[in-house]
Amino acid sequence: MARFLPPESFGAATEDLSLLPFNFERAGAKQYLVANLVGDFIRLTEDELTRLVDLRIRPGDGLYEKAYAAHLVSGVSQNAQRQLLAARLRSRMSFLQQMTPLHIFVVTLRCEHSCPYCQVSRQSTDRSRYDMSEETAMRALDIAFASPAARIKIEFQGGEPLLNFPLIRTIVTAAKARSGKQVDFVIASNLALLDDAVLSFCKANNILLSTSLDGPADLHNKNRPRPGANSHELAVAGIQRAKEVLGPDRVGALMTTTEASLNRVDDIIDEYLRLGLDGIFLRPLSPFGFAIKTKQFAKYDAKNWLAFYERGLRRVLKINRQGTPFREFYAALLLTRMLSDRPIGYVDLRSPAGAGLGALVYNYDGSVFASDEGRMLAETGDDAFRLGHVEHDSYNSLILSDKLIGAISSSLTQCAPECSTCVYESHCGADPVYHHATQGDALGIKPLSAFCARQKGIMGLLLDILENSPEDAAILRRWAAA
Ligand code: SF4
Repeated sequence: MARFLPPESFGAATEDLSLLPFNFERAGAKQYLVANLVGDFIRLTEDELTRLVDLRIRPGDGLYEKAYAAHLVSGVSQNAQRQLLAARLRSRMSFLQQMTPLHIFVVTLRCEHSCPYCQVSRQSTDRSRYDMSEETAMRALDIAFASPAARIKIEFQGGEPLLNFPLIRTIVTAAKARSGKQVDFVIASNLALLDDAVLSFCKANNILLSTSLDGPADLHNKNRPRPGANSHELAVAGIQRAKEVLGPDRVGALMTTTEASLNRVDDIIDEYLRLGLDGIFLRPLSPFGFAIKTKQFAKYDAKNWLAFYERGLRRVLKINRQGTPFREFYAALLLTRMLSDRPIGYVDLRSPAGAGLGALVYNYDGSVFASDEGRMLAETGDDAFRLGHVEHDSYNSLILSDKLIGAISSSLTQCAPECSTCVYESHCGADPVYHHATQGDALGIKPLSAFCARQKGIMGLLLDILENSPEDAAILRRWAAA
């Protein structure tokens, strides 16, 4: 009797292979981009894809090994591949274990700026009508503390939240006096009203500042008018002062792309570098509030924006190649999804959508919304994402409201037409508020969606750089690992 089995006994059986779930799309002549269940990408020729789908693959033919390594096939009776995919999927979706970690308090709708792209339809007068009351704030705090997340972030927004700074003080003090949760605080401010009292309160309470910076003075002031035409001067002074007092990593800035920004991406990035900021978030205009009324939103399309974004990303990569670490934050978020299984709870890049499950918004008048964009819609008369009111709702009644469940369940990318078969699905997000705002339907028709066009464009660009530009790919991989 032979002491060893013949060599063929050690090869995998081929007759009982089965396909694992994957999506694919044509990527050039007879080339396909294929993504497995958790979004690992692989490129196959048309012949390879056909052989794979027909299961005409054998050990040693190269494609068999490629398909196994990419988790595209498994033995019918083998559980290891499926268990591995399930574990990875569970890790990717584990943001769902931290329900509603973000709570946005709109402490006033008043603002001293008059930005034409403003998404919140700010008001300039009537403190009594547009400021949140202490009673409303305390009820909102009750709801925030009833959410399951062990660590929550309270973000103060407006209008300009520093116009109601006394209420911010009251809410921070009250939140810190409560037990049971770790609480982080952020004030989203244009910094025009930043003074030493605000800064010392922020320092004492470890509060982050987030501001708007659209680029150099001429561009920023054009986008963000205020009396005195000095928005840029005040924002820059505020950033520098906040960095000195709070620390270099305790203030961040966001930009919004207007039509006037489209040819200025180098200038915008240079301004962020000049101020010592560690990166930039290249953001398109959102279709809400005054951005719709003033038609700012319609002034450029997804194609214009993608060209702007690509120029910006390539410039940021060049800055890194020259030795200065500097990130483009949206790419960093997407790369974390594309190159790792770390959960990303970023509200616009997840399915189930972040509306309500990721964030609740307490408006100045006590209305509660599923997202910041939802309250922006309401300011222009559309209450589709108004979930209730702090006076007569609880956390549970808001989260289990038919409105929220309907919006989330009808927008899942995992089963939405177009998304469910999209090669980028694992890394994309359901954005029911955006699609409701632009198409009147939370699910949306994705081939007509600028959100979808931007997502496909950016992920395609990132893949191209990862595959074809080794030096830049190393930089992108570092962003994903950070
Ligand atoms: S929105 Fe577009 S890019 Fe995103 S999953 Fe759906 S079809 Fe794909």
